[in-house]
Amino acid sequence: MRNIIVQKYGGSSVTNTERIQNIAGRIIKYKRRGYRMVVVVSALGDTTDELIKLSRSITKVPSEREHDMLVSTGEQVSVALLAMAIHKLGEEAISFTGAQVGIRTDSAYTKARIIDVNADKIEKELAAGKVVIVAGFQGVTTNHDITTLGRGGSDTSAVALAKALNAKECEIYTDVDGIYTADPRIVRSARKLDRISYEEMLELASLGAQVMHPRSIEMASKFKIPLHVRSSFNNKKGTVISGEVKMMEKVLVSSVTVNKEEAKVTICDCPDKPGIAARIFKKIAEENINIDMIIQNISRTKARNTDVSFTVQKDELGKTIKTAKEISRSIGAKGVTFDSNIAKVSVIGIGMRAHAGVAAKMFSALAGKKINIEMISTSEIKISCVIAKKNAEKAVKALHKAFKLGRKK
Ligand code: ASP
Ligand code: MG
Repeated sequence: MRNIIVQKYGGSSVTNTERIQNIAGRIIKYKRRGYRMVVVVSALGDTTDELIKLSRSITKVPSEREHDMLVSTGEQVSVALLAMAIHKLGEEAISFTGAQVGIRTDSAYTKARIIDVNADKIEKELAAGKVVIVAGFQGVTTNHDITTLGRGGSDTSAVALAKALNAKECEIYTDVDGIYTADPRIVRSARKLDRISYEEMLELASLGAQVMHPRSIEMASKFKIPLHVRSSFNNKKGTVISGEVKMMEKVLVSSVTVNKEEAKVTICDCPDKPGIAARIFKKIAEENINIDMIIQNISRTKARNTDVSFTVQKDELGKTIKTAKEISRSIGAKGVTFDSNIAKVSVIGIGMRAHAGVAAKMFSALAGKKINIEMISTSEIKISCVIAKKNAEKAVKALHKAFKLGRKK
């Protein structure tokens, strides 16, 4: 293993120049311990949101190429400022855009995928004793067009660099101490996890835990790169995300999470015959709408009709309702209803693979609080229930308690 450490600092770690100077100090400490440092930085605070707002004030449908051209500028600001802050503390550092260090992507603007990383330039600067600072979230196509990797994509930039450089460690700095058994703002007894597996973290990230870019976990898992998620505001150990850990097998569920960003859409009284589901979801896919859960029951009446419900991201609700109404007409269904006051609560844990009864326990915990379950979906290591949004916090607390996730008193 080489003595290269890749660190990634998220937007909340670089909200202002004081914080930037702060992390400059942290980076230098590592460097003086003999590590060669590669640092990936996100845009300052809410810069990316502000840039997007700016473009929206001109057009709701900007060209995706120009969108990426615009939002990638945020990271260019932070890498330059961080390099200056390191210089001021008397060390050498050099900042680069994604394009400059050869982070090559496909041309799927706004959600580009990294094809490869040319580490030569970084290696050269490291050999010259410099801290290398790379703009996160961005890359470049073979045609030299700037791309971005999707919101929160700096995590993925960091993991790609850690892989390309065969780094010893990849640290992900954020504003919380690590990954918790539940959101500590909801559950006071929530515990920070010392370790979590890639699979569990991927479920968590995909369920909207908003700590990490799901694609970064996929990549870390593929290349077996352990990630250390920790706070840039203190020196505490955070959570290590790695392969399955023995200890985890005793734990049924490792965390509870909630997502309030989805809405439920129902196409009422669809004809119950072959080909209907295919028609519905083909049309939805053509509109580029991402579906999460789907429910369809059998029809038990003479009319042979059945409701088909599914969930989508709230910001796609308008578009989805319009599409669903068209579908409803074309298949002879009886119209469309929707509900945006829902929440999806999930329990996640590798332990449930080998144990029965997790679902029953989850449903009883919800029943105990008189919370109605509207939809259910499961994977090998996760169970999710859609419930009314007003019960979300109550549900998370009840589940956290039922699975004994809290701090031992
Ligand atoms: N600045 C980008 C965003 O806010 C990328 C990132 O933070 O990782 O989405
Ligand atoms: Mg950000």
